[in-house]
Amino acid sequence: MLDTAYKSILRAGKLKGLSEQQIDSLISFDQAHSFEINHSNGQKYQAHRVQHSSKRGPYKGGIRFHPDVNQDEVTALATLMSFKTASIGLPLGGGKGGITVDPKTLSASELEELSRSYVKYLAKYIGPETDVPAPDVNTDGQIIDWMVDEYSQITGDTTKASFTGKSIQNGGSLGRESASGRGGAIVLAELLRLMGKKNKITYALQGFGNVGSFFATTSLVYPTWEMRAVTDSKGGISSAVKLDIARISQLKKNGSTISSLIAKNIQPISNDEVISQDVDVLVLAALGDSVTTKNMKNVKAKYILELANGPVDDQAYEYLTQLGVVIIPDILANAGGVVVSYLEWLQNMQNQKWSEKKVNSMLNKYLVNVTRKIYKISQKQKISLKDASFIVAIDNLL
Ligand code: NAD
Repeated sequence: MLDTAYKSILRAGKLKGLSEQQIDSLISFDQAHSFEINHSNGQKYQAHRVQHSSKRGPYKGGIRFHPDVNQDEVTALATLMSFKTASIGLPLGGGKGGITVDPKTLSASELEELSRSYVKYLAKYIGPETDVPAPDVNTDGQIIDWMVDEYSQITGDTTKASFTGKSIQNGGSLGRESASGRGGAIVLAELLRLMGKKNKITYALQGFGNVGSFFATTSLVYPTWEMRAVTDSKGGISSAVKLDIARISQLKKNGSTISSLIAKNIQPISNDEVISQDVDVLVLAALGDSVTTKNMKNVKAKYILELANGPVDDQAYEYLTQLGVVIIPDILANAGGVVVSYLEWLQNMQNQKWSEKKVNSMLNKYLVNVTRKIYKISQKQKISLKDASFIVAIDNLL
């Protein structure tokens, strides 16, 4: 996935005629903080925060807790964040952090101590105008609330703008939870409109988690869209007619599997089969590297919406793009989350609390404008939406 991202940067750099030196300077980072946390449980944990670029504003990017976290991965993800914020024109830079830990092995109090220790070390390097971290894999509003509290105790900051993704009662933004999935639907709708697609749109969805489920529920506002297949890690279903999204959401909330909906006109499908559904749009909201050389020839959809990060690898991207499949890149498709993170930061800095309606409407306006800009460049230069997105990012980062 990270290799795919670097290749995208290289390809866009070459399209712009940049020298290797210029491309290297875009990829090189400002600072990397790597340190060890000595926990009172006797364990030592390796921790990182990479600050890639602050050219456009404070470093921005999540903190992940995962056994595979290492500095190379954190660096690559920080680089990608700079390209994402630059591509969509936010006044933010790029950063990423993490701790090499399996949080499922820790009690709540051990997790709290670990989160606070992370901030104790980093407090002098982060802050509302310097570096504003957020949740990522295995971190959530509760962990961020502990971090904000620790940061405020150390520095006296009262804005709570030092982190985004806080709980709502602690300065988080309404609309943040749904923003990535909702944003994907907004981007897809605008692109279909720009491409003159007015008729019925069928789609298959891989992943019915946070992003996928909010994409599906937002898609209900578009009367011509029909979800025909859906999977999660336990498999899924497909149908020749529209699936009932509200019912699937309810089932998942109750802890049932998607396949419990199997009926006369609803067939079970495996995770891999979702890729080969005969639909207009394939929506990928589960994992990186879902479409690769192994299954790219099975894709029948004309459009792919990359809601997950890097779900189509570079070789599959080249193959499908040559065939005329329109791939709506992650950098644009899932940007809704970072847009609303920015709105959370703005609310904190201005000591305001906006309604969900206002946040959603600002998100809509923001993404529609960015989508139009990227589409226009791709049409004018006869390049893919992915190359256009990275070219805009480079223009904003140089
Ligand atoms: P999540 O854990 O809430 O959901 C992931 C979903 O994918 C789950 O439904 C899971 O069952 C399903 N899944 C896992 N393996 C699968 C498989 N083999 N086949 C089908 N489904 C499978 O995670 P999320 O927050 O929804 O994130 C999904 C993706 O979007 C990730 O790649 C993440 O990095 C990316 N993303 C998330 C956000 C955000 O705001 N949450 C923002 C940007 C990008």
